Amino acid sequence: MDEITIKNLEVFCNHGVYKEENVLGQKFLVDAVLFLSTRKAGRSDALGDSVSYGDVCRLITAEMKKQNDQLLERVAERLAAKILHTFSMVKRVKITVKKPWAPVMMHLDHASVTIERGWHQVFVGVGSNMGDRQAYLAMAEKRLAQEPDVRDLRAASVIETEPYGYLDQDKFLNTVFAFETLYEPEELLHLLQEIEKEAHRERKIHWGPRTLDLDLLLFDDLVTDDPRLVLPHPELHKRLFVLEPLCELNPYGVHPLYRKRFLELKEALIQISQII
Ligand code: ADP
Ligand code: MG
Repeated sequence: MDEITIKNLEVFCNHGVYKEENVLGQKFLVDAVLFLSTRKAGRSDALGDSVSYGDVCRLITAEMKKQNDQLLERVAERLAAKILHTFSMVKRVKITVKKPWAPVMMHLDHASVTIERGWHQVFVGVGSNMGDRQAYLAMAEKRLAQEPDVRDLRAASVIETEPYGYLDQDKFLNTVFAFETLYEPEELLHLLQEIEKEAHRERKIHWGPRTLDLDLLLFDDLVTDDPRLVLPHPELHKRLFVLEPLCELNPYGVHPLYRKRFLELKEALIQISQII
């Protein structure tokens, strides 16, 4: 990806842990690297096809003066979010906030915090086989679409499927949601579990009946081994009720571990089920 860089933008404001800092204020320096494609602007020579670094500088200055935070971490986090929300062309941003006059009673060039944040592409498997199944699916979609740190939510067609694992239960409605998010993986899992709770989900029988099940299928190309959050979802390639809606949204997407397209995984699964 291409980069637009701002270095050492000077802003006088009042962040800090000490109350003297909040009262007197001091100089901060901000670096911002915006990751985006500049190809179109490079060919058209039109500012409207790119992001104006003047606008970015004004946005950073206004955001830094808007409120007093204690920590540089917090300032950097707010700046990253503001830039990513304001300029939709920017996929990722790297922010450094420096404090050259950090009150540590020693000589130093500056203290700084650097973070990198961006929009992540995620896919969530959705299922329900209790109560008003359609309403639970609709509630989950609406709830996620309303999240400020979620954008471009798309839902695959809803399919009705036979129960899986624990067989003595009603049929499921299944779908997959695709969206972009600023959440980190664990935060997104937490949000999904909160939405499950709002749907009065109770965890009684493993793979048993549920009002709403939201599984994180894919988070960019991330591969993890933490049992609390396994990515890609370990059952993804074994479940037709996941692969079918996933293929509707992203047929040519590639499984990050098996390096096969979802369409190929789906066809392989259909073939196996025909042999058995
Ligand atoms: P299941 O979806 O397999 O029927 P649950 O929804 O009750 O079961 O999830 C059980 C646990 O699985 C959760 O506590 C969660 O921490 C863990 N888990 C691991 N990886 C994932 C993932 N990719 N998506 C959702 N939950 C996951
Ligand atoms: Mg689940």
